[in-house]
Amino acid sequence: MNYETVIGLEIHAQVLTISKIFCNCSTGFGAVPNSQTCPVCLGYPGVLPVLNRKVVEFAVKAALVINCRINKECRFARKNYFYPDLPKAYQISQYEAPLAEHGFIEIFTNEHEKRIGITRLHMEEDAGKLVHAEGYVSSNKSYVDFNRTGVPLIEIVSEPDLGSPQEARDYLQKLRNILQYLEVCDGNMEEGSLRCDANVSIRPAGSQNLGTKTELKNLNSFRFIQKALEYEVQRQSALIEAGGEVVQETRLWDPEQNKTVSMRSKEEAHDYRYFPDPDLVPLAIDPEWVETIRSTLPELPEAKITRFVQQYQIPRYDAEVLSVTRSLADYYEECAALFPKPKIVSNWMMGEILRELKNRNIDITECPLNPKALAGLLKMMDQGIISSKIAKCVFDEMFTTGKSAEQIVQQKGLTQISNEEELEEIIDRVLAENPVVIEEVKKGKNKALGFLVGQVMKLTSGKANPALVNKILKKKL
Ligand code: ADP
Ligand code: ZN
Ligand code: MG
Repeated sequence: MNYETVIGLEIHAQVLTISKIFCNCSTGFGAVPNSQTCPVCLGYPGVLPVLNRKVVEFAVKAALVINCRINKECRFARKNYFYPDLPKAYQISQYEAPLAEHGFIEIFTNEHEKRIGITRLHMEEDAGKLVHAEGYVSSNKSYVDFNRTGVPLIEIVSEPDLGSPQEARDYLQKLRNILQYLEVCDGNMEEGSLRCDANVSIRPAGSQNLGTKTELKNLNSFRFIQKALEYEVQRQSALIEAGGEVVQETRLWDPEQNKTVSMRSKEEAHDYRYFPDPDLVPLAIDPEWVETIRSTLPELPEAKITRFVQQYQIPRYDAEVLSVTRSLADYYEECAALFPKPKIVSNWMMGEILRELKNRNIDITECPLNPKALAGLLKMMDQGIISSKIAKCVFDEMFTTGKSAEQIVQQKGLTQISNEEELEEIIDRVLAENPVVIEEVKKGKNKALGFLVGQVMKLTSGKANPALVNKILKKKL
């Protein structure tokens, strides 16, 4: 039997507000455990949550960009369950009346555009974090850090429109990119600021009915999401082929064993007993405010790519790479404004800059070379003050020391030799030492000429102007 895969993703994104969703506590990551807490987020009796307006603004931004309809009125609801990281024994979320519904995004996957429906976007609070002490099985100790309790989240639920693990990955990548562009979420999956649960089922190809799904949790990287889904599709089809049935359950991805394992079945599933939170009034969103927010939306990746291709006359591939993050794109534009040869800037950014950032595992915002410094280097190269080969060495030095290109070139005496007399002297020496090679050049062997140029470069530590060396050599030969 031929099966097709059906996947729907539920994504939780931490919203980049300075304070939590219902209190004034900081949302900063990595602080001393439990230092960012108060009676509200610790769920003391008698306290009242007050909604952070900025969270709503960010959520509306995200909802607009994913083409959702913003509901005129939405509500917060209590999702009841007990867990040590949830001091109130309920999470404030949205249920029957979410902030926004009926959206979609277009993804480019499998060589074509595909529209993925978005069921809803709602706001909720994050829970705390359990920290299991080293060797916790033997020491039997777990700790609770409530700093994360009350950090704002948006949850974005997709329709079951994704047809393969790769599509799911492409969808998530696109959504993450959008949220980062909006500066609504930093998208850091390792730190858990973007989390994803994947629902997956299979059905006979062409069938209209949905099969029984399993829900996969604990997927904190793109690779894990894809691998877990691939594993799960295999597991489900093998099960059905063997005459069995998929049971609805939640499964965890175990990255060590490379497989999914059952966490809880439908019978053990929580009954959350949702009900409207009586502490929070229904939220009416002013359509005028929505329009104000719409007018502040930044240029999104697709639009930027198109503009880059037109404005800078660079290949689409370059534009795509440079638009991966807003800060990378900004860096590019700043540099191209200072050194208006956009393709050269693009080459250096896609080559040297991205390589070094990757080597050091840092972001463009942490790049020791600012756009002005890179433009300075490219200018020196363009004006022939240094050769392109030397420029690469200067670049490495700039990256490690943070010095400007001018400083390094001056201190190290790297200025290109473009003085004909000086070069002729060196070339004469090279020619005198290589009579055999000269004969080969005269027989028309280009490689031999290259060898001579190389020798001149060696003697000048790469500082000779290569065009001039070629010219003089040809003249002399
Ligand atoms: P639940 O009530 O179990 O949370 P929902 O209907 O709210 O399920 O859907 C949760 C997510 O699972 C959504 O992203 C949805 O698209 C997806 N989903 C629902 N049914 C299926 C299915 N049969 N196969 C794959 N994904 C599904
Ligand atoms: Zn608090
Ligand atoms: Mg659901």
